[in-house]
Amino acid sequence: MRLSLNHFLIIWVGLTIGLLANAQEPEVVPGEIIVKLRGAKGPGKASGVLGKMSSQKGLKVKRAWGKMGMYHFAAQKGVSLKAQIDDLNSDPDVEYAEPNYIVHKSSDVGILETYTPEQVLEIVQAEGLGALGVDESVQAAWKSGGTVSAQSSSVPVIAVIDTGLDVSHQVFTSTDSIWVNSGEIPGNGVDDDGNGYIDDVNGWNFVDNSGTMYDDDGHGTHVSGIILNVDQNIHVPASSLRTAGIKIMPLKFLNGSGSGSTSDAIEAIYYAVQNGATVLNNSWGGTSYSAALHEAVTYTYDNGVSFVAAAGNAGSNNDSLPMYPASYDVPNVISVAATYDNFELTGFSNYGRTSVDLGAWGYFINSTVPGGAFGDSSGTSMSAPFVAGTAIQMVIEAPGMLGYQVKQIIEDQTEYRSVLSGKVVTQGRLHPNDSISTASTSTVSTSQPDYNTNFSANRELASEIAGGGCGMVQQLTAQNSPNGGKMGEGGEFMQGGGGFSIPGPKAWYVILLMGILLAPIMIATHLRSRGSVNQRVHQRFKIDSDVRVKVGEKELVGSVSSISLGGVQLNTEELLENGGIVNMTISSPEGKEQIQVEGRIVWSEEKKAYGVAFQDAPLSALDRISNWTEGLKKSS
Ligand code: CA
Repeated sequence: MRLSLNHFLIIWVGLTIGLLANAQEPEVVPGEIIVKLRGAKGPGKASGVLGKMSSQKGLKVKRAWGKMGMYHFAAQKGVSLKAQIDDLNSDPDVEYAEPNYIVHKSSDVGILETYTPEQVLEIVQAEGLGALGVDESVQAAWKSGGTVSAQSSSVPVIAVIDTGLDVSHQVFTSTDSIWVNSGEIPGNGVDDDGNGYIDDVNGWNFVDNSGTMYDDDGHGTHVSGIILNVDQNIHVPASSLRTAGIKIMPLKFLNGSGSGSTSDAIEAIYYAVQNGATVLNNSWGGTSYSAALHEAVTYTYDNGVSFVAAAGNAGSNNDSLPMYPASYDVPNVISVAATYDNFELTGFSNYGRTSVDLGAWGYFINSTVPGGAFGDSSGTSMSAPFVAGTAIQMVIEAPGMLGYQVKQIIEDQTEYRSVLSGKVVTQGRLHPNDSISTASTSTVSTSQPDYNTNFSANRELASEIAGGGCGMVQQLTAQNSPNGGKMGEGGEFMQGGGGFSIPGPKAWYVILLMGILLAPIMIATHLRSRGSVNQRVHQRFKIDSDVRVKVGEKELVGSVSSISLGGVQLNTEELLENGGIVNMTISSPEGKEQIQVEGRIVWSEEKKAYGVAFQDAPLSALDRISNWTEGLKKSS
């Protein structure tokens, strides 16, 4: 594995941020609980138990997914949510109960730069489509996939579960690519097709609970444009666009800040499948394991659709710190990391040798934004729709192909690069054209392996990670917690005997300092990693580093001379006394080996922050670090 020291450090920063996200109390919708009842699937089966939930536990049904035996409740007021969930989980009628976790879009940077359609055309003429993040293998897909769509008897539907969609953008209207519910008469206030949603003409807005579709964030419109861009070139005058071979079904469950609830995500997933979508794009996620969401994703598998998910943007390892829904091991889930144009993983992208499937472009991708404009954005959010857009083209070529087989072909056709070795399962990047053309000549399989959701195993895994059960996380807590290795108590939402715990104050401090020191390195790496093509926008690129930490009312400041983080040691006194030279001692996870590396403290006027610049790390050291990483992944 080729590994530069910069990348090594990014991995560590990613871990600290990922750990921070896990260590914090999980974000939940206050006063809401999702419950799966035991043996209560089907109409009428649950009525007795539901009566008990209401009369004895004070729960009110907000939404029922009767076929699944799942219910979304408003909790009893004045009683701690944790206590109510614990009580439900000890009830023999309950299979599981959990909070309604909050999830977020998988792009923290928003729209980095916007362009008029005319400006986009100028860029294409001057610099080519590559300058907009449209790779040659995507352009090739327009030729192989584009003409075949007309032969398809029914146009396949792809659901974009996101912040909504500007359905009046000329790119979507000119291509006639927005899904229309043919069973619904617009604006008559009646649920004409009886699917449970009134006037759901183009999809559903779960934020407003209405059929009115818009995008007050821009994320969903951008994602949808990337999907359409696998069908055809969207960077042409609107008059040159052709009718698309696909229909996009927008399902808005993320609000104008890009946040949404797990219950709405679940409902959107069911809506998508029940209303005929064969590919679901999910450029969002959260670190809290939800059994209910796991079950919804399993439902998509059982129905043969593709479920594409962004791996996340914490720069962390999903093998040890999972991101859901990307990390569910359901066989139709395709977890996508973000790469630069040169195949290398971006500094912000999550990765995972065993749990992230492949890479796709995710850095300065140009696509549609609300208001008829175009814009650049970065994130694994942008990578997932390249894969989803490829998957839906494959369905055009091979109608009825199950999500399981779609995933197999996409994985088999990735373009191998050694820089992705150890980062993603396939060690490769998406190849849209090869995937689509392979689908066109493949025998469509009508069967797929059975998959059984194992909630208890996943709960155990989630709690073990959050509680510091293995690898580097364990070492961090052991070395820094004042409890001598025990995680602090006070995890608010305990599940199934495990739970989420808060590390002691010193551990918080470590996260804070490491974040401040190393964040500028992440930024510097980003600036270097792309060619000159897009330099005009680089100064606007920002990393969202959520590493400012407060414990209660106190903001922690540097007052210890030596700190460690899962094997990384920084001597802060030396840092200040030695002319800005810092010696970093990197210990192997078991502490048996140590490597010394020298770096220089640098001040960035632009970033108003200190960073550590490392040069000429010896190759032997990098090899040894690679070996540790291998061992660590195995143990976790
Ligand atoms: Ca309806």
